[in-house]
Amino acid sequence: MKITGIILLLFPFYAISQNLKSGGKLKPEQAIMDVRHYTISLDIDPDKKYIKGFAEIDFILTQPSTTLLFDFWHSLQVKKVWVNGKEQPFQHGEDDLIRIAQNLPAQKAKVKIEYEGTPGVSERAPWTGGFQWEKDGKGNPWIAITCQGEGGKIFFPCKDHPSDEPDDGADLFLTVPQGLTAAAPGMLLKQTNKNNKTTYHWKTNYPISNYCLVFNVGKYKKVSRKYTTVNGTVVPMDFYVLEENESKAMHELDLMADACRILEKYFGEYPWAKEKIGLCETPHLGMEHQTLIAYGNKFRYRKVGNEDFDWLLVHEFGHEWWANKVTNRDWAHMWIQEGICSFADALHMLEAGGQEEYLKWMQRTTRNAQNKLPIVQGDEVDSDQAYHGDIYGKARFSCTPCVI
Ligand SMILES: [Zn+2]
Repeated sequence: MKITGIILLLFPFYAISQNLKSGGKLKPEQAIMDVRHYTISLDIDPDKKYIKGFAEIDFILTQPSTTLLFDFWHSLQVKKVWVNGKEQPFQHGEDDLIRIAQNLPAQKAKVKIEYEGTPGVSERAPWTGGFQWEKDGKGNPWIAITCQGEGGKIFFPCKDHPSDEPDDGADLFLTVPQGLTAAAPGMLLKQTNKNNKTTYHWKTNYPISNYCLVFNVGKYKKVSRKYTTVNGTVVPMDFYVLEENESKAMHELDLMADACRILEKYFGEYPWAKEKIGLCETPHLGMEHQTLIAYGNKFRYRKVGNEDFDWLLVHEFGHEWWANKVTNRDWAHMWIQEGICSFADALHMLEAGGQEEYLKWMQRTTRNAQNKLPIVQGDEVDSDQAYHGDIYGKARFSCTPCVI
C-alpha cells in the first residue's frame, strides 16, 4: 500500500478537465497572429507516463503586438521561453495560457517553449481528450492521444483555434524506448537510435488542425501497399498495426482502398496524395487524424453488397475530405465535418450495396435527427457547444439534394 502511495506521489495522473475546450471567441492577441509552422520535439517515457521537450511556433504578426498569448494546459510545466532566439520571462497560469509581454512589430517571429510534465489522461477516449497509456495484448506500451474538443494545448503550446492551421505544416521529433514505434502525420524522414531510444522525425507540409497533430506509440508492424489516386498519383498506404493483428492488416488496407475510390469519385483526389494514406491501431475507437486515421474497431465487419464493410474505417477516412481538407474555421460549422462526412458514409452504401442499401441507411440514420435545434448554433461557439446542434442526422439529410 505504501509503495503504491509513493508511486502516486511521484507520478500523479490528472484527467483533462471537462471544461477544457477549443475555439470560441478569438482572443485579440491571437487574432493578429497567423501561425505558419509547429515543431514539436518530445521524449516520451511510457514507464513514468511523462513527456519532456519543446515546441517551436513560427508565425506572422499582422499587427504590432505587446503580448504574445499561447494556449497550454496548466498542469504541464513550462521551463523556458525564447522569442526570436532570446530568453524571455513568461506567465503560465490556471487559465491554460502562456503570456509573454513583448513589443514586436508586424512581421515574422519564432517562439520556442521548453516544457515537461505528466500529460492529462483521457477518461473516455475518443470522446474526451487526453493521453491513453495502455498496454497491448503482449504487455507492450500502447499510447494514444485524442483532443478533438480540448485541442492540441493538452500537450503542446499553440494557438488553439480552428480558424488557424499552420500553413507550412509541422515537424515532430518523437523519442521513445527502442523497439517501440512512434507514428505521426505526414512522412517519416528519419529514424535514429541513441542510448536505447529511437527518435522518429515526422514531417507534414500540409496545413493540419491542432487536434490532428498527435502521435501514437506502440510495438507496431508497418503493413503497406500502394494506391493510385483518381489523378494518377501513387500514394503509399501504411497501416501501423499491433504485431498480434498483423495478419488482418492487408485486408483492412484493401477495404480502405475501396473506400478511397468511392470518396474520390464524389469529392476529388485524396487530399494528401504527396504524403501518405495512413491508418494506426489505437486503444480508442477512432479519430480522423490527418494522414494517420486512428483505428480501434477491432476488424469488425458486416456485408454490404459482396464486400466487408467497416463503418468506422469508412467514416473516419471520409473525414480526410470533410474535416481535414475542408475544415470549419468556427466550430459553429461542425456540420461541415460531421454532416457531410456522414452523407459520404451513405454514398459508400450506394456504391457498395446499391440503391436499396443506400435508402435503408438513410432511413435508419435519419431517425436519429431530432430536429429540435438549428444545425448551426450561432457564431464563435466552442467545441462543446458545436455538438448541441443536429450536426449528424439533420445535417446529413440536408446534403441529399446536393449530390444525388
Ligand atoms: Zn465523424
